[in-house]
Amino acid sequence: MSAVAVDLDAYARRETDAMLSACTGCARCVEVCPVVPFGAAARRPPVDVVGGVLRLLAEGERPPASSADWMHGCNGCGDCIPACPEDVNPRRLLMLANMRDATVDSRTPQLFRRMARAIKLMIAMQLLPEDYARLFTPAKPRPAQMVFYTGCNALRTPNLLFNTMAVLDALEVDYEVAGGPSSCCGVIAAKWEGQPQVGGRITANTLRRFGAHAPEKVLNWCPTCEVHLGETLAGFAPRQYEFDHVTTYLISRADELRARFTHPIRRRVVLHAHRGMPEIGRNVETLLRAIPGLEVVETVLESSYTCGGSGCSKTPELQAHEHGHLVERVRATGADTLVTLYHGCHMAFIGLEQTESFEVLNFTELLAQALGQQPREDRLKTLRGMEDWKAIVQDAQPWLQRNGVVLDSEWLERHGAEIFAVSEFKGGLDCLATEAPASAARGDTHATHTH
Ligand code: SF4
Ligand code: SF4
Repeated sequence: MSAVAVDLDAYARRETDAMLSACTGCARCVEVCPVVPFGAAARRPPVDVVGGVLRLLAEGERPPASSADWMHGCNGCGDCIPACPEDVNPRRLLMLANMRDATVDSRTPQLFRRMARAIKLMIAMQLLPEDYARLFTPAKPRPAQMVFYTGCNALRTPNLLFNTMAVLDALEVDYEVAGGPSSCCGVIAAKWEGQPQVGGRITANTLRRFGAHAPEKVLNWCPTCEVHLGETLAGFAPRQYEFDHVTTYLISRADELRARFTHPIRRRVVLHAHRGMPEIGRNVETLLRAIPGLEVVETVLESSYTCGGSGCSKTPELQAHEHGHLVERVRATGADTLVTLYHGCHMAFIGLEQTESFEVLNFTELLAQALGQQPREDRLKTLRGMEDWKAIVQDAQPWLQRNGVVLDSEWLERHGAEIFAVSEFKGGLDCLATEAPASAARGDTHATHTH
């Protein structure tokens, strides 16, 4: 594979300059943006809002509150992209602005370290050692037709990834798995921690890992990696393979899948999808419609490109409205199942089963089932169903022990409630950032490995 350029600063400057020379500051992007009404940008003329972002990018001037609010609140919905009369891609402009702004004032320093710890802990609670290693340990270089790229955070819902692999196996795809914190796309360092050069090196390292398999295609799972590698850093490094979402590949083999979907599933489902990358939602809807017996009664599109911290959670008021609307549609249509899209969506909605009469399943569970396979157990759903964090820890202990992870009991007593009692374990990130007890601080996580 050819050498991968790693100077992300120089790349970002070049790309920014090209966008700035095309942008007229007309502010159509602000006018159509659905997050604007929910923040300080609503109180300023749109041209001022975009003007602050343009000055940040051109001169490094700190943005006023309205511009900063807009930039930081961008949920990636992409509504601004067709609205721009100059073909600039304002979503990408804001990604680059956020990267630039974070170099001066990162609101999430050390996010990667915290995230890696949380991921490691969460997959150790859900997987047997062989599967843990398959997702967490980089594969040995060997020629493979495809790489299945999971990204980092999706490891929190490993069952979805194994279900996807079951579909690839059914299609007899020759692939290797890449992902986890050792194969991050680099977005955390570049956009959240304000370290573009570090982010560039991480990206380059991951692209090298892909290249080591000389694949025809990298089949990506994570929507954030899709935006970062496929859009924000488009052209950052030369590559000899296609980078596609895994569902795009599955659609290219939809006829073969249809023939293999021999197990009818009698369900009426509402599909939850996102406007940010609408083609992925369409792919999944097409795949679901190919399953005999299954009726897709409605697809409910949410603004933003994903659920979770880098997507709809940026604007909690809008998120509450849109999630409320989704639940209303499932109830109103009498559907028996809400189908989730990405890992972030799945984590956001699995808790609904405790209060609603419908089930929450990910589309990968349905694909595996239609192929006659038993979908992987949704351990996270089981753990989420437990009210008491001590019960979660007790349930998870055998899994943790099998993976050689021993939680420090003193640290756990201090932080356990915050980590485990919060739905989708969101609180874990913050407490994982606090000073670890001496025994835990030596490792990668607040856990001690016994082997
Ligand atoms: S990015 Fe496009 S829509 Fe936004 S201000 Fe510039 S030219 Fe106008
Ligand atoms: S991607 Fe969506 S949220 Fe972000 S600036 Fe564009 S319209 Fe606004």
